[in-house]
Amino acid sequence: MEGSIEARVSRETDLWLAWLPRWRPGTHRGRPRLCRRCFGSPILSAAGLDDAPHPVQHGFSMRMKGVIDLAVDDYTERNLPLLAREIRLAEARKSKRPYRPGEGLDPEYRGLDLDPEETPGQPFLFTLGGLEQEAAAEVADAPPRPFTEEEKAALREEVRLADEFAKQLGRRVCVELSRHRDRIAGAVARVVEPQIAELLADLDRELDSPAWPGA
Ligand SMILES: [Zn+2]
Repeated sequence: MEGSIEARVSRETDLWLAWLPRWRPGTHRGRPRLCRRCFGSPILSAAGLDDAPHPVQHGFSMRMKGVIDLAVDDYTERNLPLLAREIRLAEARKSKRPYRPGEGLDPEYRGLDLDPEETPGQPFLFTLGGLEQEAAAEVADAPPRPFTEEEKAALREEVRLADEFAKQLGRRVCVELSRHRDRIAGAVARVVEPQIAELLADLDRELDSPAWPGA
């Protein structure tokens, strides 16, 4: 793995800042579901992005998640042999699936729901998630050999250690982000806030227009 966590946080912040000018306020309906990655994220708080629009937040959280995940993978590979083996097996099973719609996406699109929420009584003919499950079922292997009690306990302990390590990294990412808050806030003020102000002004004009029912 290249460079310290701090250096990687700094680099991912640079990349996000370079992406930000491409953001435009969405005109589609708001997301009905809360994003598990972004809602209440201490990383977004540390970056000063709690109140930013979700697409602006999401690319940032996924970039920081990428920094943490890579470091945890590296730690697991070097220190946690049982967990590393299970992850390799799971990845090998997954790579056999012919259809993996959630992979290879830019950070701005990673980890989002693949399908919009259904309207009750009007199910979709197919969903990306459904197609993925079907594809997975077609290549399903025989179930793996069950673990012994000792193996289960040892694996649980390794999962706990990996989790502990991820939490420590999360704290380091937050500390490092406090050094980047100013430039993040500057970019939000320059790129995001004027566009939101414009959107609200447009809405205001629309509500005042004689074409609006009840105006
Ligand atoms: Zn999100």
